[in-house]
Amino acid sequence: MKRTDVLIIGGGIVGCSAALFLAWRKAGVVLIEKDTIGSKASGVNFGGLRINGREPAEIALSVRAREFWGRIREHVGHDCEVEFSGHLEVAYNEQKMAVMERWAQMARGHRLVPELLSSTQLRAEYPWLSGSLIGGCRMPADGSANPRLATPFIGLAARRAGADILEHTSVAHAERDGEGFKVTTSTGDVFRARVLINAAGAWGGQIAQSFGDSVPWLTLAPQMVVSEPLPYRIRGIVDCEVGGRYLYIRQIPRGNVLFGRGPGRVDLEADRAFVIPQNGFNASNIALGLVPFLAPYHIIRTWSGVEGKLPDSLPVLDVSPKVPGLIHAFGFSGHGFQLGPGSGGVLADLALDGTTATDISGFRIGRFLAKEGGLT
Ligand SMILES: Cc1cc2nc3c(=O)[nH]c(=O)nc-3n(C[C@H](O)[C@H](O)[C@H](O)COP(=O)(O)OP(=O)(O)OC[C@H]3O[C@@H](n4cnc5c(N)ncnc54)[C@H](O)[C@@H]3O)c2cc1C
Repeated sequence: MKRTDVLIIGGGIVGCSAALFLAWRKAGVVLIEKDTIGSKASGVNFGGLRINGREPAEIALSVRAREFWGRIREHVGHDCEVEFSGHLEVAYNEQKMAVMERWAQMARGHRLVPELLSSTQLRAEYPWLSGSLIGGCRMPADGSANPRLATPFIGLAARRAGADILEHTSVAHAERDGEGFKVTTSTGDVFRARVLINAAGAWGGQIAQSFGDSVPWLTLAPQMVVSEPLPYRIRGIVDCEVGGRYLYIRQIPRGNVLFGRGPGRVDLEADRAFVIPQNGFNASNIALGLVPFLAPYHIIRTWSGVEGKLPDSLPVLDVSPKVPGLIHAFGFSGHGFQLGPGSGGVLADLALDGTTATDISGFRIGRFLAKEGGLT
């Protein structure tokens, strides 16, 4: 039997960031990861770090996360290929442009500085983009990171700061009794802690359910495509909406162009997401429409990843209404990589102070009460 202050289930970017913030505050932390750190959604995503286009409910958390990303080298000892070269969302029609104008107005209310660009400005600054675009909205301080580096380096930093991080160990059973939480792992170890953080990504809904906090959780498998290396021209991320779905594209300095547009197919029991080839072809066609100079180049790889989703596409980041000391952080719905470090900070606040200064009112687990007729 091992005792600690806080137990974390899940070594994605959310769990590892929570471990880092808790260890910085000298709390005893054990993080349990069934595979390896950052091997699920956190390690296979597109790497986009955007505030642009975020729901109002996410802005405060996203801003907190941006502060961390801006000092990543100082925090974890590596730059994780973080680059802030802007995120541009573009419009093919007036309707979309009006949505972006409304977003920019809302964002200014949060003291953010979005830039609205006309079609003439787009052609001058992005001559390689489609000539059919009528305008765009840019957040110059948004950027990208290498997801294969970020979560492992955050995990390493947490370990250096004193967190105990266990890989290839799954939480087989977790319960609460009079002494707090008792967690039994697949390796037969038993841990006790005052606080349990559920940062289990796509599996977080199942863990919440095992404690009686049932929410209507879903899964998602965004599908990524990468090209062979080509001359470096695309700086920053460009995002467009076609047929109600987004296509996002960026180029790494080595030359490969990455783009994403879902969905693949999730098999949660097998811990895997599978690509649907036709969706990759569809994404390639939309990418070619947006960035015509890509036409002669080859696609070299496509992949997907398992992600948790909630019906309103916002995460649950909240204390359990039923189980004292249980804190949930799951269902990041395809955009939790950027939010990860902000969520880690909030989780440490909730675990150690019982409250946080960051506005997380949009992520309450109770928002599903009315629709679902109550938590079961
Ligand atoms: C292909 C793709 C592209 C994306 N692109 C972007 C993007 O550009 N920008 C962005 O902001 N977001 C993006 N996202 C979303 C983002 O990756 C996720 O929202 C984020 O990584 C979620 O982090 P997490 O820590 O909650 O989950 P995860 O990374 O899934 O981590 C949860 C961990 O919990 C572990 N676990 C589960 N059950 C147990 C158990 N019983 N015992 C022990 N461990 C357990 C899992 O093994 C897993 O490692 C993308 C996602 C995908 C899949």
